[in-house]
Amino acid sequence: MEETREQLEFDVLFVGGGPANLAGAIYLMNLAQQAGKEIEICLIEKAESIGSHSLSGAILDPVALKELMPDYLDKGCPIEQPECRDEFYYLTRTGKFSVPYTPSYMHNNGCHIISLSKFSLWLGEMAEELGVMVFPGFAGTEVLYDEDGKRIVGVRTGDKGIDKDGNKRPNFEPGVDLMAKVTVFGEGSKGSLIREVDKKLGIFEGKMPQIFETAIKEVIELPDSNSFHASATTVVHSFGYPLGLDTKGGGFLYKMKDNRVALGFVLGLEYDDPLLEPYQAFLSFKKHPLIADMIQGGKVLQQGAKTLPAGGFYTMPRLAVDGAVFVGDSASMLNIQRLKGVHTAMKSGMLAAETIMSAMEKEDFSGETLGLYGQKVTDSWINKELYAARNFSQALSIKGITKFITIGAQYLSGGRGFSDPMPIEADFTTFTKLQNSTAAPVESPETQDLDGKLYLDKLTGLYLSGTTHEENQPCHLVIPDQELCMTECYEKYRSPCTRFCPAQVYELEEDADGSKRLKLNPSNCLHCKTCEIKDPFNNIIWTCPEGGGGPKYSIV
Ligand SMILES: Cc1cc2nc3c(=O)[nH]c(=O)nc-3n(C[C@H](O)[C@H](O)[C@H](O)COP(=O)(O)OP(=O)(O)OC[C@H]3O[C@@H](n4cnc5c(N)ncnc54)[C@H](O)[C@@H]3O)c2cc1C
Repeated sequence: MEETREQLEFDVLFVGGGPANLAGAIYLMNLAQQAGKEIEICLIEKAESIGSHSLSGAILDPVALKELMPDYLDKGCPIEQPECRDEFYYLTRTGKFSVPYTPSYMHNNGCHIISLSKFSLWLGEMAEELGVMVFPGFAGTEVLYDEDGKRIVGVRTGDKGIDKDGNKRPNFEPGVDLMAKVTVFGEGSKGSLIREVDKKLGIFEGKMPQIFETAIKEVIELPDSNSFHASATTVVHSFGYPLGLDTKGGGFLYKMKDNRVALGFVLGLEYDDPLLEPYQAFLSFKKHPLIADMIQGGKVLQQGAKTLPAGGFYTMPRLAVDGAVFVGDSASMLNIQRLKGVHTAMKSGMLAAETIMSAMEKEDFSGETLGLYGQKVTDSWINKELYAARNFSQALSIKGITKFITIGAQYLSGGRGFSDPMPIEADFTTFTKLQNSTAAPVESPETQDLDGKLYLDKLTGLYLSGTTHEENQPCHLVIPDQELCMTECYEKYRSPCTRFCPAQVYELEEDADGSKRLKLNPSNCLHCKTCEIKDPFNNIIWTCPEGGGGPKYSIV
């Protein structure tokens, strides 16, 4: 029997509490108040609190923040370091080369170092002060359409209190239908609702396929004796070891306040070796003498993981449909050349807000009227930045030294390079190595020296992400063809999900007779979405678990 659900009506519904939507909601409320208009804005976030699923580097280019809130410093915006001073290295196994010339997009002059979880929490408070109804702990699980199935009219939140087998528990609470004139999707990387919108309305049709990267990040507390404190450097970027030149990725280390540093490692998800383990690569990077020296004596306070959409300009979807717009990472607005997406995400939310305000004046929420948002993006600095980086991710995916020649050509030609558009040839679901292999089963990955304090195994790191979920709920990781896992996937690739997942959600279990099974630990999930992207058979579908579950980031 169809559940009876409460319906709540708003003017505007923001789905996702990241910087894109938070800036959008604040800006819209400001515009409405300036126009003397009363407006009901709701923002939902699947995390237990705003910011607790936010993970980023994070070097903030404050360009959008200054437009949103020129007095952000007076308003207590949490900033770790006001200035950035960069160093850039190529790492060999034990050595390093300081890169003598860095292109202008690598410079971070005028940027701040922040913690995205603290920053988002603060933006959430600013939004609430203005009267935005902010509801953390609510996951949007279904997009609602009008009777014709063409206009988006809101989002249904997930039911709470359903057990593993799909039965109602005593604490059952049906999800609510949040109805709105305009729904703003700001779900971040690989959104689970935008995926469904695309299936129905084809918003990514005709665009290049998205390129993703995945990252593991820690915040480490350093002892007073550590000499990195005294150095003027606040930002270190590296490439090379442990990936070499054929696999895309690199590391970063940013100085925070209170004797802390943010350490992270990013890996392009088109890597072709199924035995490569991102977490293990992160540990190898951490143990490189340059980095090991900088973090010597430290203690990991928090760890987390997240993917990022790196395709940029040519992968941006249609930005508006009847009743809805798409902002931030959901709309592929991250500038991978600068490894920055917070400023573009915020600006896109603000441009969406301006468009929604005009749509409200006209009482017209059609795709055509909301399409003005796309034009505003085209006319803005977002477009200028992304256009100049339009072939960068593709060039970065090239193997060997040709990569640098292609990147150089792009830099000198304003992003054009040798061909424009440069096709994205990366296929995330194709591992070119180990196919048809009869190689021995992979050994346990945790082979590096780990001390439980600075160098952690996956489960200890996971503990420091604070991730928890209601255990007795349906598995939010849907595997349509279970048989495939232990046949083709194991035989060809040795079950790479057990390695690319940074949270040990996927494990191989062996029975007494030697037969193997894939065991899922969905409660470990960090919501990074690496599994849905990297599964070689597209056999993992990530859906939102009960609202409030997931990591509890507070300083990453
Ligand atoms: C390792 C790493 C380093 C980075 N470094 C930098 C940097 O130095 N500088 C920079 O500017 N950018 C950086 N970025 C990119 C930056 O973090 C993103 O571009 C930015 O956070 C995008 O903002 P957003 O609001 O679009 O999405 P997000 O910040 O991802 O926020 C989306 C929110 O929506 C919520 N959500 C998702 N689905 C639902 C749903 N169905 N229902 C309810 N809530 C939902 C999520 O929980 C999340 O809180 C980095 C990213 C990573 C991963």
